[in-house]
Amino acid sequence: VKITGRRSYVDRRIFATLLALAIFSLATTILIVATISAMVSARQSGVALNNLRNQVSLLSTELVSAESSQRGYILTSNQAYLAPYDDATKAIPAQLHSLNLAATGTPYASGAQELQKITEAKLGELAATLGAYTAGGIDAGIAAVNTDQGATLMTEHRRTSMTLEARLGTGLEATRIAVNHYANLARIVGLLTVLGTIILVVGVYLLFEHALEAERALDRAKDEFVSLASHQLRTPATGIKSILSMLAAGDFGALTETQQSVVGKAVSSNERELAIIEELLNVAKADAGRLVLKVGNLELMTLIDSIMGEQHEAFRAKDLKVKVKRPAEPIEMLADEEKLYMALSNLIDNARKYTPQQGKITVSVTTHRANVMIEVADTGIGIEEAELAHIFDRFQRARMVLAGTIEGTGLGLYLARRIAELHHGTIDVTSKRGHGSRFIMILPRHSQL
Ligand code: ADP
Repeated sequence: VKITGRRSYVDRRIFATLLALAIFSLATTILIVATISAMVSARQSGVALNNLRNQVSLLSTELVSAESSQRGYILTSNQAYLAPYDDATKAIPAQLHSLNLAATGTPYASGAQELQKITEAKLGELAATLGAYTAGGIDAGIAAVNTDQGATLMTEHRRTSMTLEARLGTGLEATRIAVNHYANLARIVGLLTVLGTIILVVGVYLLFEHALEAERALDRAKDEFVSLASHQLRTPATGIKSILSMLAAGDFGALTETQQSVVGKAVSSNERELAIIEELLNVAKADAGRLVLKVGNLELMTLIDSIMGEQHEAFRAKDLKVKVKRPAEPIEMLADEEKLYMALSNLIDNARKYTPQQGKITVSVTTHRANVMIEVADTGIGIEEAELAHIFDRFQRARMVLAGTIEGTGLGLYLARRIAELHHGTIDVTSKRGHGSRFIMILPRHSQL
């Protein structure tokens, strides 16, 4: 009870740590995504501000180039001077339009509008001066230039443009700082995520180790219990056996017929009890790695015949059709006779137990080079496919069998497999529910045991 309690406590801690890990990674993921998207949008607004600033400075350049080319034309009357003026006056309205569009909705919209107004006024002045020149010749042109209106507008334009550029520069710097800030934050959160994940994963690993250790301790305690209990049970059961045999032999006086029949029943119950105790002892030994073989030469068919002989009565009681298919030659082999007897008699006993009246049992023995194959097939109740993988495990019985009245411990096949493996052999099963089962044991005849 104590160990079970500790296990569930550890289970809860593993669950809590896994939950913490899940919440932690979710939280840090959200944080990283938020930080990175804030960084991306700060970067995008930085790009937009830079773009706006470039447009403002381009506009100033265009306007200066328009004015100087126009003034050059008025002074020289050389048409070639006018080309940059024409280009600039054509380009500037489009530039103003896109500048306004880019500034809409930003804190720089009013600055952009002011710049547009002053630019348009300057363009108007340039057009008027050119008009005066065209109408009144060079003197009229120079007089128009000399009014100072052009210089004033140009100064005004430069001032507005510089103010706007400076404000955009400040904004740009702020976005640069924000981008750096978010990048640092993402780096720190990333680092914390890695550290936190490592700590939690190590925690989960340690807790699992702890839980596994508790499980192993529980297993060891179970093994020790099985071993101790079966040892303790064997002595009184053996005592009862000798008393019963003395009773049956008439050592305490002759028995009536009824007494003989009662003693006979007690003898067979005692035999069953001793067989189960023997099985438990062998399982305890197998678990502790202490099940060792005592090998010797034997003839397999003689061994099988003696099992069949021992179960003859039981076969007859169920009216089973039993067949042994044997090779022509005797099969000499090197094996532990007692253990092989136990394994094979369990297979044959199972075939009998799990086959209803009038069914069929076939034991076939064949040799394949250095191996011998023993097949025990029946037409009995069969085994569910999902349970096939587990029936060789300790204490495993099919659900259908557990619900019924057929006696058993679920240890026979476990031992049979261990015995086959100790002989460097294998044991397998194919079965279909309701259609019977086929157990196949393959053993090397003379392996290095
Ligand atoms: P048990 O003492 O219960 O017979 P075993 O280890 O010998 O224990 O067998 C394990 C389980 O495998 C049985 O309980 C039964 O459900 C199933 N089984 C074994 N042999 C047969 C068979 N020939 N036909 C159907 N089921 C079988």
